Amino acid sequence: MVQGTEIKLSFYASGYCEAHARIVDPIHGKGKTKFHAVWALIQIPNVGNVLFDTGYSDEFNTATQSFPNRFYRWATPMKLNENHKAKNILKEQGIDSTDINYVIISHFHADHISALVDFQNAKFICSELAYQQVQELSGVKAVSKGIIHKLIPPDFGERVEFIEQIADKKSVNKYGITEFSFFGLKNLKILLLPGHAKGMLGFHFTNPGKNILFATDASWDLNCYRNGILPSKVVKLFFDSWNDFVTTIEKLKSMEKAEEGITILFTHCPKTLTFISNEI
Ligand SMILES: [Zn+2]
Repeated sequence: MVQGTEIKLSFYASGYCEAHARIVDPIHGKGKTKFHAVWALIQIPNVGNVLFDTGYSDEFNTATQSFPNRFYRWATPMKLNENHKAKNILKEQGIDSTDINYVIISHFHADHISALVDFQNAKFICSELAYQQVQELSGVKAVSKGIIHKLIPPDFGERVEFIEQIADKKSVNKYGITEFSFFGLKNLKILLLPGHAKGMLGFHFTNPGKNILFATDASWDLNCYRNGILPSKVVKLFFDSWNDFVTTIEKLKSMEKAEEGITILFTHCPKTLTFISNEI
């Protein structure tokens, strides 16, 4: 059970893949860049230990052994240190993998969900739109959208709850972003950030001294986001909607500009890794 009366938020990273830097930044990118798989532990009094994404696990290599999933491993080879696995990081914090009550899934790309199987007692929360797409796509089509069905636990259907259905309230904020209040919480909201993937989620957490907008894969790099540099067009096919992707960035920018003291973090940005290592 979670102690205290305040929500506690911590970020960690489990593994990374490498890609050409010019994919992230077609103007300045040179050589290779690392995409660290950042996830969050959110400890909520009266709810329990909640993960937001899980990063990579060995399951990624197991699930991508055969075709067509092997294309995924070729495109984004993964590296993961044993003690950087989510379950091992949590164990170090005194949290057993069976003590995770929920895993909120930002979207179903492998670098976000590879360790779902490690949390046997957890319920899953995701967008209904995202899960519908997972069910609709198969074979090469699924892989081309970053979906590897083998990473999804076989009993997922019985354990999933859709944010659209369990939310206390759904509203559109003044920046045009859909927000979900849940678990009766006032200072933690799930945000719908479509474009990179269907029904992609992020969250906004506010507490005295903390104002964090975790915008997951709405951008891959803070500098690119700030300077209006979009990823290489080669990723267009892999994205769900380029138009939504561009619109989501614009909405986030207006939210960030208007909300004083907000820190925006993206899952794979190197600056996020610097931010979380300073926090720990
Ligand atoms: Zn990602």
